[in-house]
Amino acid sequence: MMQRSLQARALPLASPDFQLTVLNQALETGKQFPAFSEKLAAHQLFPLKPTGIKIFQVNVGKMCNQVCRHCHVDAGPDRKEIMSRETMLECLAVLATTSIETVDITGGAPEMNPDFRWFIEEISKLGKKILVRCNLTILLANPKYHYLPGFYKKHGVQVVSSLPHFAASRTDAQRGDGVFEKSVKALQMLNAVGYGKENSGLQLDLVYNPAGAFLPGSQSSLEKEFRRRLKAGYNIEFNNLLTITNLPVSRFLDYLLESCNYEAYMEKLVSAFNPAAAANVMCRNTISVGWDGFLYDCDFNQMLDLKVNGNYWQHISHFDLEKLDAREIVLNQHCYGCTAGAGSSCGGETV
Ligand code: SF4
Ligand code: SF4
Repeated sequence: MMQRSLQARALPLASPDFQLTVLNQALETGKQFPAFSEKLAAHQLFPLKPTGIKIFQVNVGKMCNQVCRHCHVDAGPDRKEIMSRETMLECLAVLATTSIETVDITGGAPEMNPDFRWFIEEISKLGKKILVRCNLTILLANPKYHYLPGFYKKHGVQVVSSLPHFAASRTDAQRGDGVFEKSVKALQMLNAVGYGKENSGLQLDLVYNPAGAFLPGSQSSLEKEFRRRLKAGYNIEFNNLLTITNLPVSRFLDYLLESCNYEAYMEKLVSAFNPAAAANVMCRNTISVGWDGFLYDCDFNQMLDLKVNGNYWQHISHFDLEKLDAREIVLNQHCYGCTAGAGSSCGGETV
């Protein structure tokens, strides 16, 4: 049976406030992890400031055809929050008047937003580089989505897709029964129109995230292994593999607590703090727009309802690039996930 979101199950962890309480409270043993801001201060990185917004990430809604165990969005078919065309028009107005070059579209399954197709066409008219975080199975979820590979090709969209493992059982355990088989078919459909093929100019990247309470292995080693196994087993080609650390937010936080792995996992993140990764966190060059138009430092802060520091420019309708570039980034204990080991971001390792 398909899982339901934390929200649909009315669990306390569905509340961002409750998640932040858990992340900041002392453990039963009395142990308290050092504040993330103090760690940054020890390396002259606090307050953390942007280096300049280069990526405009838009979360067009929490609706998804999947209910992955570790989803930080708490997405699923039962989530109805989606971005309206009116808010998309406000995003387009910002993109038309700023030099921000890259637009990163995420969700949920962004393709389920009824205005998705129109939105991509309008961004494309502005000559921006477009990246879509596609969960692959959406391509097969309904015949109405079969247009997607050709549509992505037409607009030169960079496709970034999660595939936690090249073993079906490992992927299905994290993303749901039958997801691996459908993901393979979707990747073959993307390959068939040229995605991931040498010299096609059509970029197809895969995202790996660990199945449990551990940090990802080396990105380059995993990439080689994925390339070899996917080619040999399914004749699939792709460009890059991006490794992403699971942040202790939403359903992954729920998993950590349920499996009694929370303390050990936080300990791992804190002890693997890497100042070089801290200097390169993605919130320094990204702004994240929520389905209702509010602005955040990243998609994780968005799910924790930590809006950007500031006053009236917290909403897309009052977007002020100069003010946003001068803001202090909002940090909390989940940020340790971005700075552990080789670092983690929507673009993979950061060091
Ligand atoms: S991880 Fe992605 S595909 Fe899975 S439920 Fe969340 S938004 Fe959907
Ligand atoms: S979780 Fe967000 S705000 Fe915190 S370090 Fe990572 S990108 Fe920056």
